[in-house]
Amino acid sequence: MGFLRLWFGLFLGFVLMNEMNNIGVEGWSKEGHMMTCKIAQELLVPNAAHVVGMLLPDYANGDLSALCVWPDQIQHWYRYRWSSPLHFIDTPDDACSFDYSRDCHDTHGGKDMCVAGAIKNFTSQLSHYHHGTSDRRYNMTEALLFLSHFMGDIHQPMHVGFTSDEGGNTIDLRWFRHKSNLHHVWDREIILTAAADFYDKDMESLQKAIQANFTHGLWSNDVTTWKDCDDLSACINKYATESINMACKWGYKGVEAGETLSDDYFNSRMPIVMKRIAQGGVRLSMILNRVLGGASSTEDILVAT
Ligand SMILES: [Zn+2]
Repeated sequence: MGFLRLWFGLFLGFVLMNEMNNIGVEGWSKEGHMMTCKIAQELLVPNAAHVVGMLLPDYANGDLSALCVWPDQIQHWYRYRWSSPLHFIDTPDDACSFDYSRDCHDTHGGKDMCVAGAIKNFTSQLSHYHHGTSDRRYNMTEALLFLSHFMGDIHQPMHVGFTSDEGGNTIDLRWFRHKSNLHHVWDREIILTAAADFYDKDMESLQKAIQANFTHGLWSNDVTTWKDCDDLSACINKYATESINMACKWGYKGVEAGETLSDDYFNSRMPIVMKRIAQGGVRLSMILNRVLGGASSTEDILVAT
């Protein structure tokens, strides 16, 4: 057990040091995932916070956000190649809807192989923590990191996008003066432009501003609704549906390949990106609190999965 944990720690450390700056296209950027996870971790009840602390490798220093981007970094490694379809959902072009049985599969038709299926699976794995023995921690750590990451991804609207353009990945365009694509605009460009324009590139200030919006600002009356969840499957489907609706209404709308997106697009979409990061964080904490918080509510959200 000690060896496995040490090995896993070294393994994660290696990935972290070598690939922290090598971000793929699948997911909120490093910054988006870190904010989602920081927001979530600050909302954990003591029991859940304790378990998360136990599951993180020592070098993370108790900071979940330090490892929230890990699933993006390992997805193309041979050992983890199975996980690469789990970061997104491809929906039929222009359908602007999500249907779990129609859409949650990989390109070979493998059932449940999408971000919605992954969240259900890793939540269910994590719910066994309290019944497990200590040598289960190896898997539990992975389950925690995958769940935390995928709760970010499912809230990125372009992660529930159209099949033929791969969620906007094949729509090449310019973001202000540099080359980008529509998917990446939502993963990272909007976040970085917001940080540069309003927070002197300080991600912590941006994160605090997002948190202030739901603790006592713009969204403070909505947080309870965000967290509402009686049946995890239905909730996850709702998050995916919200994303594809936003992708249609705000992501794709009016965008043509080859064009330049700038102030108009940024100003109108930035609040949506910030809200999705907040919702991802608040809802991740809701799931972790229910599953790891030791309350009797653990099983009930999983009933229908
Ligand atoms: Zn991802």
